[in-house]
Amino acid sequence: MDFSQINEQLPIERFQHPVATENQIDLRILRLDKTHGEISGNKWFKLKYNLLEARNRGINKLLTFGGAYSNHIYAVAAAAKLFGFQSVGIIRGEEHIPLNPTLQFATDAGMHLHYVDRESYRNKTVEHFINQLRAEFGEFYLIPEGGTNRLAIQGAAEIPSLIPEPFDYYCLAVGTGGTIAGLISGMKGQGNIIGFSSLKGSFLQDEVANLLQSFGHESLHNWSIQNEYHFGGYAKTKPNLIEFIKAMEEQFELELEPIYMGKMLYGILDMIEKGQFEKGSKILAVHTGGLQGRAGFGL
Ligand SMILES: *Cc1c(COP(=O)(O)O)cnc(C)c1O
Repeated sequence: MDFSQINEQLPIERFQHPVATENQIDLRILRLDKTHGEISGNKWFKLKYNLLEARNRGINKLLTFGGAYSNHIYAVAAAAKLFGFQSVGIIRGEEHIPLNPTLQFATDAGMHLHYVDRESYRNKTVEHFINQLRAEFGEFYLIPEGGTNRLAIQGAAEIPSLIPEPFDYYCLAVGTGGTIAGLISGMKGQGNIIGFSSLKGSFLQDEVANLLQSFGHESLHNWSIQNEYHFGGYAKTKPNLIEFIKAMEEQFELELEPIYMGKMLYGILDMIEKGQFEKGSKILAVHTGGLQGRAGFGL
């Protein structure tokens, strides 16, 4: 498969926010969002080995799951089109016409959308339900919701190879935990990795630990999950978060979306302000992309 349209030479940019400079923190951003216009950020790293696996098995249809605003659905639709796969998106909830920008894009890219009610959607990992989908859609390569599986973690474990110098802290937004599990495994114990949960609750600690254990990395403990910056929960926002995102764009020309990136950067600056990083620390924040989601929030 020809991956030459995907950029893996990604810049690390200095982010001279006054909160960082006043507290003598060297804050930089790894721009994973610049991989590709449509298959952006961590989603590319999670997908690449899955695409190769599907191709190696001779399967030409991808099937995956997501919500109506899912960055993952968007990325799978784009990747399927670019690399010549058919694609099916199993979407949680009812169809709303006109389609929102995410689902309109997916449809335009050729993805077949199949809506299921919330109850059925909960069966997304149950064999019986998957078999029903096989009866309906024929043979497909299954990519789980959010894209997290063994091959996704293998891809995300390549992110450290993009970072030429060591940092004290590596910060990353967390949804299913697949990307951070890959980053932790790829860092091989170097630095402190902090995941900023975009979900309410504290279950991601166990979730990430389980992912690491399933893939033989249970000995790595240089990571933690920050649960204080969910702004009400997954895909929820607060007016101050939207104001923060607009300010970052106006003052620093830095585009963020509100589901993951805005929450993480808000969290990092808040922790710096509260003195939770030693003076002189070098922090690398990973821009995981997802900018397609801005339209759904009027940004
Ligand atoms: C999907 C996504 C994440 C979360 O990745 P996980 O591997 O599910 O934890 C973080 N940031 C952005 C922008 C995303 O689209």
